[in-house]
Amino acid sequence: MKIVVARHAGFCFGVKRATLMAFEKASEEGGRRTCTLGPIIHSPQVVARLEEKGVKVVKCLSEIDEGRIILRSHGVTAAEMKEAYDKGLDVVDATCPFVKKAQNQVKMLSDEGYDMVIVGEKDHPEVEGIVSYATGKVFVVASVGDALNLPDMKKTGVVAQTTQSYHTLKAVVDVCLAKTQELRVFNTICDATSVRQEEAKVIAGDVDCMLVIGGFNSANTRRLSEVCSEIQKNTHHVETVEQLSPEWFVGVRAVGVTAGASTPKWLIDEVLEGIKALCPDKKG
Ligand code: SF4
Repeated sequence: MKIVVARHAGFCFGVKRATLMAFEKASEEGGRRTCTLGPIIHSPQVVARLEEKGVKVVKCLSEIDEGRIILRSHGVTAAEMKEAYDKGLDVVDATCPFVKKAQNQVKMLSDEGYDMVIVGEKDHPEVEGIVSYATGKVFVVASVGDALNLPDMKKTGVVAQTTQSYHTLKAVVDVCLAKTQELRVFNTICDATSVRQEEAKVIAGDVDCMLVIGGFNSANTRRLSEVCSEIQKNTHHVETVEQLSPEWFVGVRAVGVTAGASTPKWLIDEVLEGIKALCPDKKG
């Protein structure tokens, strides 16, 4: 049986950076009490490894009065950032530079008097963070339908949630153009998600079984699994090697493997070893 592993499986740049920062801080000699504000990434296995090294997860800043706080890759709100510094905590800002850029662009345009339109899901923590940097009017739209309900504006700025589709951003921009005298758009989309999905689709079409590895709490991994299921019915989303089931591989000539942007390499390697153990006639 052949195993095809996606080239873009696992950690994206921002998640890798945040995870490295957390492990580095955890192993500092004479390190201070270290916490992350929410799980550092959507991987229960990575969070558990950090916990073994003494890094605790706190839900909000009221749970920590001293020591070090690590801020997650998809960012926090401006108020949370201020509170962390005001409390005198040692702040390790692991916000992905792409998310940071979107936050800064919102602040800049807002300060210049632009009404801001953020294209994204309003309850997503990354969007909540980006929105919080607006100093004037701000609207969050998830679709063209939402954009059609926007009021007429004078000066409008548009940025997108980093995982937004280019198609939706462009469609919202078209609607805004008709509603405003002046429009500035920053394309803040990061292609990490779409690159993983496009590659996974091609692989899923070429194999008889597709495995998607990553946290069940990771939206991008769940979406990756859905995208593959639409093409290959024998698709399975697993978090760990223990969840592999021998019947998935019966009569299978080729198995494809991909992983969400918050899945570490060691978890992917464990699953690959598991597949090889279940199907001894494998070829890499
Ligand atoms: S998906 Fe893109 S924006 Fe989000 S953390 Fe990864 S690299 Fe950064």
